[in-house]
Amino acid sequence: MAHVKLHIPGPVEVSPKTFEAMCRPMIGHRGQGFKDLYSALQPKLQTLLGTRQLVYLSTSSAWGVMEGALRNLTTKKVLTCMCGAFSDKWFDVAKRCGKQAEALQVPWGSPIRAEAIESRLATGEFDSLTLIHNETSTGTMSPLGEIAALKKKFPDVMFIVDAVSSMTAVPHAFDELGIDVLLAGTQKAFALPPGLSVFTVSPAALAKAATVADRGYYFDFVEFEKNAKDSMTPSTPSIPHIYALASKVDEFFAEGLEARYARHRYTNQMLRDWGARHELRLFPEAGFESVTLCCFNNGARAGLGRTIDVAKLQKLVKDRGFLIDGGYGKIKGTTFRVSNMGDETPETIQVLIGALDEAMAKL
Ligand SMILES: *Cc1c(COP(=O)(O)O)cnc(C)c1O
Repeated sequence: MAHVKLHIPGPVEVSPKTFEAMCRPMIGHRGQGFKDLYSALQPKLQTLLGTRQLVYLSTSSAWGVMEGALRNLTTKKVLTCMCGAFSDKWFDVAKRCGKQAEALQVPWGSPIRAEAIESRLATGEFDSLTLIHNETSTGTMSPLGEIAALKKKFPDVMFIVDAVSSMTAVPHAFDELGIDVLLAGTQKAFALPPGLSVFTVSPAALAKAATVADRGYYFDFVEFEKNAKDSMTPSTPSIPHIYALASKVDEFFAEGLEARYARHRYTNQMLRDWGARHELRLFPEAGFESVTLCCFNNGARAGLGRTIDVAKLQKLVKDRGFLIDGGYGKIKGTTFRVSNMGDETPETIQVLIGALDEAMAKL
């Protein structure tokens, strides 16, 4: 069957080189070979996340760590900052974990702003908050720096941040931000297959987790820390994913992190320009657009750009060998999304744009 190249915002296309890296012979996860693999990765991951804390590897998709963070850190009440499908779901997940939660909801396409958070945290009701840096469903990036600055005013509140679709595509500075959890799944900007998550946790969060009785086992942050000190994971990890991560992270540093961030901005701008040429406007509020995908407005925000037959566009583009996304959750069809995250270059995005242009001509 002919391969359809993924330009959906996750999973994204995985290179043959990465797949090959996964196929190295298996090793024991308590042996020196594994410890060498993990310890060689550790400083590179710390640079990527901007931290001197240990970076943990979880064999799970991002939701495992997202749920785990609540189980480790929420004992009083969590403020869930909600601006799209993933961040809205975190509220639901908190409830399912039996946690007290309050929704801080803004309209989809709007970012989360610090003022709104500040007035809620000032009530003193909360011991944690969840935030999605880059809300992938709407293509909206919230200003993490201004939000993290609140940590100084509310040091006892645990700031749990999902950077699933921004980590490795934009700089992250965990220690400087002073937040408590930063996590990502690897099938987005890392361009690895789904099934692994990368995250780090502040000393304050580790200390708090140690006092929480029902934090479970699989996502117990204290277990992650204890094992990571020894270059191991609490349970048997997906070692093929970690081989792939090691290969990928070497590619990041060979390219240079700044060049990698610039490449994401550049290829994203190419897609924005493509949209502008076709009178398609971006869905997110101006100034808060993601750089890892474009979420185009297709009637979800009235009067903003033209509307097209998205299902037909998707089909025409698929016939040319590319998969784009037809919108997520309640904005399915009234938006559509095209991803530029991972390995995409100006050349590969230009090929995609050629296919998009041909499809538009046939609509
Ligand atoms: C994809 C995504 C998730 C969910 O990840 P899973 O791999 O399905 O667990 C969470 N948050 C954001 C921002 C995402 O883009």
